[in-house]
Amino acid sequence: RSGPMAAGATVCTTCPYCGVGCGVLATPDTAGGLTVKGDPNHPANLGRLCSKGSALGETVDLDGRLLQPKLHGKDVGWNDALDLVARKFQDAIDRYGPDSVAFYVSGQLLTEDYYVANKLMKGFIGSANIDTNSRLCMASTVAGHKRAFGTDTVPGVYEDLEQCDLLVLVGSNLAWCHPVLYQRVAAAKAENPNMRVITVDPRRTATSDLSDLHLALQPGTDVALFNYLLAEIAERGAVDQAFVDQNVEGFDDALQSAMANNPAITGLSAADLKAFADMWIGTERVVTVFSQGVNQSSSGSDKVNAILNCHLATGRIGREGMGPFSVTGQPNAMGGREVGGLANMLACHLDIENAEHRHVVQNFWNAPRMPEKAGLKAVDMFRAMSDGKIKALWVMCTNPAVSLPEADAVANAIRDCDFVVVSDLTDQTDTAKLADLVLPATGWGEKDGTVTNSDRTISRQRAVLPAPGLARHDWAIIADVGRRMGYTEAFDYETGAEIFREYAALSGLAADMGRDFDISGLRDISDAEYNGMKPQRWPVTSNGPTGRMFGDGKFFTPSGKGRMLPLTHRAPQSQPTAELPFRLNTGRVRDQWHTMTRTGKSARLTQHIAEPFAELHPMDAQRLGVSDADLIQLSNPNGEAILRVLITDRAQPGSIFAPIHWTGQNAPTGRIDRLVTAHVDPVSGQPESKASVTAAERFDAT
Ligand code: SF4
Repeated sequence: RSGPMAAGATVCTTCPYCGVGCGVLATPDTAGGLTVKGDPNHPANLGRLCSKGSALGETVDLDGRLLQPKLHGKDVGWNDALDLVARKFQDAIDRYGPDSVAFYVSGQLLTEDYYVANKLMKGFIGSANIDTNSRLCMASTVAGHKRAFGTDTVPGVYEDLEQCDLLVLVGSNLAWCHPVLYQRVAAAKAENPNMRVITVDPRRTATSDLSDLHLALQPGTDVALFNYLLAEIAERGAVDQAFVDQNVEGFDDALQSAMANNPAITGLSAADLKAFADMWIGTERVVTVFSQGVNQSSSGSDKVNAILNCHLATGRIGREGMGPFSVTGQPNAMGGREVGGLANMLACHLDIENAEHRHVVQNFWNAPRMPEKAGLKAVDMFRAMSDGKIKALWVMCTNPAVSLPEADAVANAIRDCDFVVVSDLTDQTDTAKLADLVLPATGWGEKDGTVTNSDRTISRQRAVLPAPGLARHDWAIIADVGRRMGYTEAFDYETGAEIFREYAALSGLAADMGRDFDISGLRDISDAEYNGMKPQRWPVTSNGPTGRMFGDGKFFTPSGKGRMLPLTHRAPQSQPTAELPFRLNTGRVRDQWHTMTRTGKSARLTQHIAEPFAELHPMDAQRLGVSDADLIQLSNPNGEAILRVLITDRAQPGSIFAPIHWTGQNAPTGRIDRLVTAHVDPVSGQPESKASVTAAERFDAT
């Protein structure tokens, strides 16, 4: 295929993988492919790309692409397909009410797609049953931020990770999961002899190799670790009393809980605990980065707040080289949070359960209805489907039949649902294969819109190649269905720029109500300005973009103060037993992305790790009688998987790590999320993906 830009014309766009959000210069070639390199002018990567980003040109071929709508495997025209979606959803709503339908969306969607999906479900269908795969990624951070700050605000900027003297990485394998940010940190450490790095992770990872201190704590004990730190902060007189007195509430209760804490729960030695406290307390410029090891837990929200407590107590927040910093997994997890793509939020960081917020959004959209309660979060959504309560489901750009916990039960629920439509690049995902109707959506290189990365920088993702076959942008598909459901005016969009302007205007109303998310300075941008928009960090008011948040001590809670919370360690919900003696930790590998729909196309990326594996400690390998490269079978009541053994002392005894990427399509026995138990954090609804329990035994294929 040939691009919308002439071959040889370079387009500035953004990488579609992790939340670092690197700028990419993509140049179409005459054969319909692309060459890529890092954009030296993008503030996230300054020209760098990691292995995944630099292989993007190898993933845009049309092998396996869905090029036309298909109903039960047979080609169907767009008109008939969209009529069917509108009719099936409307029928379910008429018969069973608006809460009988659901959208399950994705942090791979662009902000414009996400905004339109959210508007259709919440404002016009009148249900809040729209949730996203970002629920698996950072919902606990959202909950933690809202409890502490009043809003879901990342206080810092990427430069803080370079400007600090102590970087603490908690549950974050930055080297593999956010590689360019890791490269920036490694370069800063090489230049700054005073800079220290601490990694907090039960598993020794590639990131730990950079660290001066690795704290291999017991899985799930982060609250106990940061409660210990808070108590030490107080004990050693390191509280920033002036900051706390003026800008923080809840200090006494939080400290009381911290004092009652038993740090021995962490399994760390007294010497390691002291070294941690010495370094953290003794260094003014501290950044604490946290990621999935914190979020993917049944106490994920508490873990986040335990970290935030320490930064609030010391006033180390929103200042150069200081602050808590959440790194998101997906390219537009932040954009999804901002548009209210989670079942418990409204657009522009407004709250669905706040009557004033609902009223403003409903008026702005001129919407006929608006749900008053939060909708079903991801795990509950598919449970409700199993119970027959969801009659029509629209999955956009994601693969829940593989990626959700207890994935076999999720797949069964999708199979049994009355009507399922999937919009995606391909009809070859495990989820698309279960759908009644599949709709061809544009993918990276063809899509056009905006994304927000982990430090609040909004970047353009631009089309470099034409949409193949009959593929269409997600926002256009959703808007077409909205119009067919009778909401002609509200979904009368012709361009992504129109959607963005509407969204920016709504953010101004949110800001008037004291919310953080404000891009109202972009509400009147022309199409040409939108097309040429440079990366910029929100808030973007009429005065232009802003940098760090909360350095002035002003928060978005009703009192205007940051909130510290009393917290108590809670163990992971599954505990090892004689029958299920191993703890199963799931995560990513360096060169694959999610269920490999794109990265699986690159032979170069697949060379890094070619098949699913299980990391085992040598003592466990000996006990099970397995050697490197043998096969091992993991099993628990949710399912089983057969994986290649990788023996390493990076794993703790009793723990097994396995990657999430392999699916029923490329490694039917290697799917690991079928074993993950669907325990969730009670506040955030985020599943505990890193602490299931399993049996393990040698598998002999003969
Ligand atoms: Fe893409 Fe993330 Fe790699 Fe940057 S670090 S190139 S955003 S995968």
